[in-house]
Amino acid sequence: MSTKGLENIERTKKYTNDQYRAWFRENGIPKSYNPVVHLSFNLGTLALLLGWHLSFVTEWNWKVFSVLAFTLVLGNLVVFLIHKYPLHKRMKIWSFPYDAHTVEHHRYFTHENPVYQSSFDFYAVFFPWFVVLGFALVAQPLFYFSTKFIIGNELAHVFAGSTAGYFLLYEFVHWCSHLPEDHFFLKVPWLKYMWEHHRVHHNPRLMNRYNFCIVYPLFDMLLGTHFKGEMPRSSDEDHYQDVRENLRQNPSGAPVESTLQ
Ligand SMILES: [Zn+2]
Ligand SMILES: [Zn+2]
Repeated sequence: MSTKGLENIERTKKYTNDQYRAWFRENGIPKSYNPVVHLSFNLGTLALLLGWHLSFVTEWNWKVFSVLAFTLVLGNLVVFLIHKYPLHKRMKIWSFPYDAHTVEHHRYFTHENPVYQSSFDFYAVFFPWFVVLGFALVAQPLFYFSTKFIIGNELAHVFAGSTAGYFLLYEFVHWCSHLPEDHFFLKVPWLKYMWEHHRVHHNPRLMNRYNFCIVYPLFDMLLGTHFKGEMPRSSDEDHYQDVRENLRQNPSGAPVESTLQ
């Protein structure tokens, strides 16, 4: 993280959630940000990949459905691992996931205020466009070519397409998890369940230990990270301490100690 990033953490540490949002809208979101372009690119790219790959299916048989079911489970595990580790444990080699997710997304949305206020806030909800571009240009060919020689051309397309479909589902359910509680989408029990599941995850005291799944809670349940019981009291200070501890462990060469003391 740059010295400026560190200064910003110090500058905003005493801000209320509303003050932080106002500050971030002014200083963190580019003036040129256009939510329609952002969403069109992210969702359009993923939907096109899904549709294009599935257009290679000649017969919807049990093999195709088995690959789809496999990806649905694998996607849950992969999201669990990415969310639990690079997004919540700052890495020396690549701190961007932690800085974008824990430092910004978790400061912008808390368990007390998980709801976005306008489409301008989508900047802090959806993945950055270049992550989706990287997924399309690097991950997708990798998924297709690495499985083609094992399961054949058609099923490799199904596998690659379904990973794009899972990413799309992730973006949708995560967006639903930041909707107002009375939104009509949340009349769907699955989406309401995940809304509450994710709200608990946004408690700064729980965020690095519980509720990492987004689409459905399978691996939280299997691996003991599904939070049960009364939510603890927590504050922005807990978030600050988490960031400070992660920066202490992985400062990425920046003068963290002098800035944070
Ligand atoms: Zn979130
Ligand atoms: Zn998180």
